[in-house]
Amino acid sequence: MPRSVRECIYLLYGQHVRHLAGDELAGFVERLCADHAGWKSVVREDEGLWQFNTHCVFCDSVKDVSMVPVIPPGRASDNPRVARILAEEFALVPECAGCASAAMGRDVLEWHDNLASIPPRVMHSLLRVVHEIHLTQGTLDSPDPNLDGLLDLYDLGVIISCLMLMKGRKERRGRKGG
Ligand SMILES: [Zn+2]
Repeated sequence: MPRSVRECIYLLYGQHVRHLAGDELAGFVERLCADHAGWKSVVREDEGLWQFNTHCVFCDSVKDVSMVPVIPPGRASDNPRVARILAEEFALVPECAGCASAAMGRDVLEWHDNLASIPPRVMHSLLRVVHEIHLTQGTLDSPDPNLDGLLDLYDLGVIISCLMLMKGRKERRGRKGG
């Protein structure tokens, strides 16, 4: 299991952006932990796969598509550094008006039931944002963000809510149950 926020991000990235498992996934995380500079090359390399694709990242529509932040900038509350990161180009994904309206102002973690249902391009953006925020705050190497032996949507939420970005987190924790 991941021993730090950093490891958690690498692991989620390997699983949900690169679709790695087993030894390949372990090797991927190990390499990045040994060489932190590798993260930038990894995210840039994957960015190349999508950067000219302007279809909606959720439904593939080309109608009424605009670049939308993966985490609404309002979540930064009064932290200007975090607000700036949420508005960075890498924090945006193409989304059609229909999907944006279906999301009803919820961020992607609130909108999806599990990590596997979140498109890789969205996970890529989301994890870059989370990485950047922790880097800025100096919390990338914080120990185990309260993981319970299972990496899921909730854990990603935890590493974000560490920063008090997400509103209503406690409420959702209560709803999650077991
Ligand atoms: Zn759409």
